[in-house]
Amino acid sequence: MQHLDYSEQDCWIGETNWQSPIDIVANDAKKIDWQKQPLIVDFTSHDLTIGDDREIGEQFLASGQLTLGEQVYRMERLHFHDGSEHFIDGKQADLEIHFVFHNEQGATLVLAVLGTIDDASKIEGITTIFNQGIQTAHLQQWLPQPLSYYQYTGSLTTPPLGKDITWLVLANAIQVTQADWQAIHDNYPYNHRHIQPLNGRTVLYYQ
Ligand SMILES: [Zn+2]
Repeated sequence: MQHLDYSEQDCWIGETNWQSPIDIVANDAKKIDWQKQPLIVDFTSHDLTIGDDREIGEQFLASGQLTLGEQVYRMERLHFHDGSEHFIDGKQADLEIHFVFHNEQGATLVLAVLGTIDDASKIEGITTIFNQGIQTAHLQQWLPQPLSYYQYTGSLTTPPLGKDITWLVLANAIQVTQADWQAIHDNYPYNHRHIQPLNGRTVLYYQ
């Protein structure tokens, strides 16, 4: 299995100084009523075509739809990070799942779900995605409720660090089992990019 070398990440240079991930300071985020821009994520009514695409770096191909206010996005893939990339109030979570979407104009949006280890977790499908694939019903479980979210503009977190990415980082984490985390760790050990400077950006908090 080939991996990006995260020990060389200090040499990764983005096109702009609005890079990702960031440390989200909840108190500094601009609070907005969630109803002004509701977030709806639907995996269940779409065909799920999970595949392991080595060409684009250990991604799982999948489908789904995300509606952000009036904007509709289609999911194309998802992947995992061992150790969250985004921090909230200086704290790193145990893992982060990225769901990558595009809209008709070609704009990219990444939905980030942070996860913490809790063996009481009832979430299914994370361990099995690596060997048996997954069902759509499982994927829907990977979203916390409610879908409060932080929004900001940044970059992709792997080279070539594509710019103008809309990031939605869910404010609530999901709980996963130790075995789930271990499966992610074994497949992608420590594959998280370091925190990047905010450089004047405003983070919005739809709650
Ligand atoms: Zn990612």
